[in-house]
Amino acid sequence: MKEDYYKTLGVSKDSSAADIKKAYRKMAIKYHPDKNPGDKAAEEKFKEAAEAYDVLSNPDKKARYDQFGHQAFQNGGAGFGGGMNMDDIFSQFGDIFGGGFGGFGGFGNSQGRRVLKGKNMRVRVDLTLEEIFNGVEKKIKLKRKVLASGVTYSSCSQCNGSGQVTRVTNTILGRMQTSTTCPTCSGAGQAIENRPSGSDINGMILKEELVTIPIPAGVPHDLQLKVTGKGHEAPGNGINGDLLVLVNELSHDKLEREGDNLHYQLYISMPDAILGTYKVIDAISGKLKIKIHPGTQPGKINRLRGKGMPSINGYGTGDLVVHINVWTPKTLDKKQKEFFESMKENEHFEPKPEKSEKTFFDRVRDMFS
Ligand SMILES: [Zn+2]
Repeated sequence: MKEDYYKTLGVSKDSSAADIKKAYRKMAIKYHPDKNPGDKAAEEKFKEAAEAYDVLSNPDKKARYDQFGHQAFQNGGAGFGGGMNMDDIFSQFGDIFGGGFGGFGGFGNSQGRRVLKGKNMRVRVDLTLEEIFNGVEKKIKLKRKVLASGVTYSSCSQCNGSGQVTRVTNTILGRMQTSTTCPTCSGAGQAIENRPSGSDINGMILKEELVTIPIPAGVPHDLQLKVTGKGHEAPGNGINGDLLVLVNELSHDKLEREGDNLHYQLYISMPDAILGTYKVIDAISGKLKIKIHPGTQPGKINRLRGKGMPSINGYGTGDLVVHINVWTPKTLDKKQKEFFESMKENEHFEPKPEKSEKTFFDRVRDMFS
């Protein structure tokens, strides 16, 4: 049985939006994973509070919850269902802990001070099919923002490092105290102390670095990989941004990829189709010998199990699908022409497709089954 959302946040049904926000902020700080590393119970509380706040902070969802309870969000109805992930929860924090800082993202920590995060970087890597098949380490030159050597930071003098400033205003109801994000440091609690010449306002410089990007075997085209911490650095005690790598698969001159399967167009001569032979093809996993049976029809498909691409999830390997095409000669000499003329009425050259000769559509269906 799921706990009542109001109970989760410790508020009553007639609490104001501001009270609900305040209650959630308190819970989020208390149960924040940074403050309770490895504590599963705290993480559960953290998630439950986020879920409750997600509903109770939204007037529409709140109204439905007040009327129907948890029932309101079941059966796949529009709105909330099945818990929130950590990314959802942290994206909610912008609203709870205040806005941005000169080009840096951030999130609140237990002191209400914001931890600065460096910007993410994005690159695209071109990969051959062979590189994707084997997995590869790509080295790429990047210009990252890093701390200039010799830069130092000190506690912000306006907020003494807390990231928050307190204002006292006199109103007719008495003195009111409000806390807001420190305007000098934008909540970071730090100020630059020694800025080396040539560095920017945050004490950072652009530095070219050779970054190694591990590419796992079987990555699909257009996949975005994340290399944690290899984006721009953040000033002060911040954490690095991430490097987001977009996979760009280059086209191959022989093979075509379809998921984990590879397709190969094999052309054989008419005599080979009639008499049968062996063909060696350059598959990605190495050379493969293919048997061509006597009387092979054009369009026949040989499916070689496990000779395709490795699955990125580690679940086996795709297939190599060899499509057999029979090459019809376009020019013949006199003798050849006479031979085929003489075969025109020959019963062996008469098309007699058997039931067992699958149609093109049957074969396509087989291929995807
Ligand atoms: Zn400050």
